[in-house]
Parts: sequence; structure tokens; C-alpha cells
Amino acid sequence: MAYDLVLKGARVIDPSQELDGIFDVGINGDKIAVVEEGIEGGKEVIDLSGRILTPGWIDIHTHLYEGSTTWGIRGDALCLATGVTTVVDAGSAGWANWLGFVDRVVRPARTQVLGYVHVSGIGLTYGPVGEMVDLRYGDVERTGFVAHYWREQCAGVKVRQGGFQVGDNGTAPLEMGIEAAAMAGVPVMVHIATGVPVDEVMGLLRPGDIVTHCYQGTGDGVVDEGGKIVDSVWAARERGVLFDVGHGGGSFDYRIAIPALADGFVADVISTDLHSSSWERTVDSMPDAASKLLNLGVPLEKVVRQSSTAAAAALGRTNELGTLRVGTVADLAAFEVVSGDFEYRDVGGRTEKGDRKIVPALTVRAGVAYRPEDLHEELREDRERRDFMRKFMGKDFAALGWTPGESA
Ligand SMILES: [Zn+2]
Repeated sequence: MAYDLVLKGARVIDPSQELDGIFDVGINGDKIAVVEEGIEGGKEVIDLSGRILTPGWIDIHTHLYEGSTTWGIRGDALCLATGVTTVVDAGSAGWANWLGFVDRVVRPARTQVLGYVHVSGIGLTYGPVGEMVDLRYGDVERTGFVAHYWREQCAGVKVRQGGFQVGDNGTAPLEMGIEAAAMAGVPVMVHIATGVPVDEVMGLLRPGDIVTHCYQGTGDGVVDEGGKIVDSVWAARERGVLFDVGHGGGSFDYRIAIPALADGFVADVISTDLHSSSWERTVDSMPDAASKLLNLGVPLEKVVRQSSTAAAAALGRTNELGTLRVGTVADLAAFEVVSGDFEYRDVGGRTEKGDRKIVPALTVRAGVAYRPEDLHEELREDRERRDFMRKFMGKDFAALGWTPGESA
């Protein structure tokens, strides 16, 4: 049988089926048709000898609502250049501006885009003060409605529970988010940061809810002063709460990640928290974030699981995504694991040496193959737009050709 696309000779790692070995993958249309040894023929054949081939990666924490929020970047080309076939925006859109997110970000993308809707209507538009310092921005019923009505695109409800985001409101925003999420039968993704006691946040979370920024070091985090995981975090994990890296510009801290891993606390899911300020300052991509964990001793098979199968489970899409089972969508990622001397930085600027780097080689999204080099031009434009936003937000107007006070 001739397949539309055959990926040959890679080491296939599919954590959903405990598969690890040299196989070929045959694809027809947008579906996986077969995974076996020695497939002959194929209308298009791509040799992936020496590479690893995995289910398409899923980045469950990013900010893609470009133009409507100051954090947003255009992420479509970056995803397709780096093995990411499903990407999830984490609360950039609130219930008030969700429809624009679906129309302008989700629908045009080649990557599958999902989002967590923010319980605050303004989402992450722009924040000189936090989005839930004034609880009147929150709306339980409207948030629940969005999560239900757009359940194809909405993965759950986002709440940020740092002191900056909630002011004196404690865990009231999270309680609103959970109420909304319960109405729609979806999880909450909660951002943890200094200012709200971690025990109080953990105490509210339900099985399937997701804690993002699990290795953040601002305070009120997962480890105590002795570097041990706090009891409420272990208890949350035991009852099925999930923990996500959410690297970003302020949340991957070696001072937390190293002791947490030493205490046996491995994140369930890896994500980038890419946004206009973090992208290529503190984190480059999913393979970059994953390489940091790999070099801290998390085994390759586990890193693949954290970036694909486990993320699919966190999205409640175990049977659809993060798997190479025959009949599922042909979303795959090929990488080279390169040996050498590398340096990896955290959000505080601390660097750690590493001897391996996960380098993207090919992304297949719904049966269509993308090579990193195919995306260079699009990525250049996306970086230019990000740099514009950084200068604008940094009030570097001179760099944009304007001196305040001067008119045309
Ligand atoms: Zn974020």
C-alpha cells in the first residue's frame, strides 16, 4: 500500500503506547495509518535515521493573542518550526474578548490552537495593576459559558494567584475560577507566585486542575526553605492535581527546580510560557525548555511524555493527541539529540552546563510536513513584531523613530 507520507528509520518514542524502537510511520491524509518496521514506498518519503520521532508536542502555556494584549506573540511559525502541533494560550483572552481570540488566533492557525479563558474579562490585555485586584472584572457565569460554548477551543479556566494579580483578594479569584470551571466541566490552570500562601491555593484544587509555574522562585512556591517539597503540594499531587513548568520570563528558577527534582518532584508537563518579553530572552521554544529538564537529569522518555502524552492528558484529550496510535491525527515531531557543551539559563540569569540539546528537525501537523528552514522568513517577521512590542512597552520611542513632544 502506498502511503501519502512515510517517515523512515527514526527511533520512535510514543509514551502513550510505551513504544520505543526503530520504526517507520505511514500517513494517509491527516491520519496515522501504520507504525511498523520496513514500510516500502510512499508518495513522499522522509528519512529520519538518527533522529527521534514522537507524537507532536503540546505547549500548554503560551501567550498568542498578539495585537490585543501586550504579552502576545505570533506563535504559529515558531510552533511548526519546533515540533509543536498543539499550542494553548493561557488566559490572554478573558471572557470579554474570547471571541476575538477564536476568530483571529485560533481559526487562521495551521497549528491547533486552544486556550484557557481568563475568569477576568480583561484577560491579560495589559496590567499596570493585576487583572483580579478588582473582583468586578471576574464573572463566573460568563466564564463558565465561554468554556462550555467554545469547548472545542477552550481547554479550561485560567486564574493568576500572585499578590500582584489579586491584591488583597486572597484566593477569591481562584474560587471564582473553580466555580466557573465546574459549571463547564473543565479544569482550572492556576499561576502561583509570591503573595498568596501556597497551602491555601493547593487546598482548593481538584483532581485534573493544573498548577503552572511549578519551579518559580518568587516565593510561595512548591519548596520550603530547606529545599523540600511542601506537604500541601505532595497532597495535591496525590489527589491528581497536575504541575506544569510554565517557564516564561520569571518562572523557571534553578534554585527551585534543582532541589525539587532532588526531592523527587518532576513536573507532569513542560510548557514555555512564551510571550513578548520571554521569547528568546529566557526561553526559546519547547525543545529549549525540554533540554533544560533533560540536562537536569529527567530521562529523555520522560521529557517526551511531559511534552506530548502527559500534556494531552492534562487537556482531557488522551485518545486524540499525544499519541501515535493508528487512526489519530498525524501530528508528529522529529528531533535530533545533539551532544556537546551547552549552557542553559534560567529566568534569574543563572546558567547551568549541559551536554545534550534537543534540536528540532521536522514537524508534521495533520499530515503536512514542515522543516524549520521553511519557516525562517515567517519567523523573522514574527520576531520583528515582537521587538516592536518590546520597544513600545519599554517606551524606547526613539528606536521607533519618534521623540515624545515632537509632532509631524
Ligand atoms: Zn503565562
